[in-house]
Amino acid sequence: MSHPLKADIAIFGAGIAGLWTLARLLQAGYSALLFEKSAIGGIQTIASQGIIHGGTKYALSGSLNKSAQSIADMPEIWRNALAGKGELDLRGTQLLSQHQHLWSSQGMLSRLTGFFASKAMRSKMQQLNRSERPLLFQNPAFKGALYQLNEPVLDICSLIERLAKLCEGHIFKWDERATLTPNSCLIDGFEIKIRQLILAAGKGNQALLQQIGHTQPTMQLRPLHMVMLRGKLPPLHAHALGTSANPRLTITSYPLSDGQHVWNLGGEIAEQGNKRDQASQINAAKEMMADLLPWLDLSNLQWSTYRIERAESQTASGQRPDGCFVDQNGGVITIWPTKLAFAPRVAQEVLEHLKEADIQANASDLTPLLSLERPPLAKPPWEQAERWS
Ligand SMILES: Cc1cc2nc3c(=O)[nH]c(=O)nc-3n(C[C@H](O)[C@H](O)[C@H](O)COP(=O)(O)OP(=O)(O)OC[C@H]3O[C@@H](n4cnc5c(N)ncnc54)[C@H](O)[C@@H]3O)c2cc1C
Repeated sequence: MSHPLKADIAIFGAGIAGLWTLARLLQAGYSALLFEKSAIGGIQTIASQGIIHGGTKYALSGSLNKSAQSIADMPEIWRNALAGKGELDLRGTQLLSQHQHLWSSQGMLSRLTGFFASKAMRSKMQQLNRSERPLLFQNPAFKGALYQLNEPVLDICSLIERLAKLCEGHIFKWDERATLTPNSCLIDGFEIKIRQLILAAGKGNQALLQQIGHTQPTMQLRPLHMVMLRGKLPPLHAHALGTSANPRLTITSYPLSDGQHVWNLGGEIAEQGNKRDQASQINAAKEMMADLLPWLDLSNLQWSTYRIERAESQTASGQRPDGCFVDQNGGVITIWPTKLAFAPRVAQEVLEHLKEADIQANASDLTPLLSLERPPLAKPPWEQAERWS
């Protein structure tokens, strides 16, 4: 005998897209709930580098391209939220750094110096003198230039914790035996009628779409092989400029409880490392680090890697989409944010779709669902890694 309930919205997936959207919907008075099949914090979200891009990284080709322009407003929206003055109150989320750095060898930078000094870029970044640089770049062996980008880096664990708190009592564990249709969820004896289904399940969106008989929209996966090193390392959040439009290396760092740091390495090394096994990927990373930061002592460090796929809306070229993706098709909203930084825009677009579809907020008693199981918080990759060498 099923227990009938009604809700305005059901969201699938507790990564950044689902969590930010749920928090906005609850704030707007919707009776909304979210189902997550494994852990709160998602798959890509907990594995991400936590950089709130404002587009500088995407301007490395020497012009403000579409990606750079579409993400330009995001750092301010996030900073306001982190200060408790924005659309969500994210006070309690730790900032790992107020800004990032960008460094390059002398030769490499000369081709872009004019662009970096241009009006378009001046407000976003400034070149630092030797004495203003992080200690690592005060080393006399460093002959290149170092810029500071005004884009923050967040501690994802505390961000997820804060969002989970804002959505408390509305996130439940999705059981693979449960049944989903575009307008109902049948789980553990509850039949929940919903007015709007939102798929924010990252890579899981494709299977969910199939489950409800939809063939559109379609998804692409871009595999990455990230590298981690831990030990006596200084904190660093920086991009190494290479010859292509993408950084050769993007380093973010996290303090560990024993006072050491773990560095997370992304950028070209992760994109090109997909075909390498763990040992070869670690060797490739060591060679790249020795080339880019030859004065950094790499002895006595522990190394590991993790594989992860970026799930995005399909593009004709297979490259990263320029912006976020929010699609309304056959009464179902599907989201791929493309970037963590785009979460506020994704949620805003969902609210606009609901307004267009005239789905208004209705109060509904969902307290019977509190008997359902809750998913745990996700652990960062360096806590999940089984093997360090
Ligand atoms: C290594 C890496 C580094 C990155 N760094 C940055 C960065 O520094 N800055 C930035 O802006 N962006 C970054 N990104 C991109 C960003 O992380 C992603 O765009 C964003 O996190 C995607 O969020 P999401 O909520 O769509 O997906 P996810 O975080 O993948 O969450 C999807 C959730 O859906 C759940 N799910 C799947 N199937 C089901 C189902 N059937 N039922 C219920 N739940 C389901 C999953 O368990 C998961 O919890 C990075 C991405 C990667 C991979």
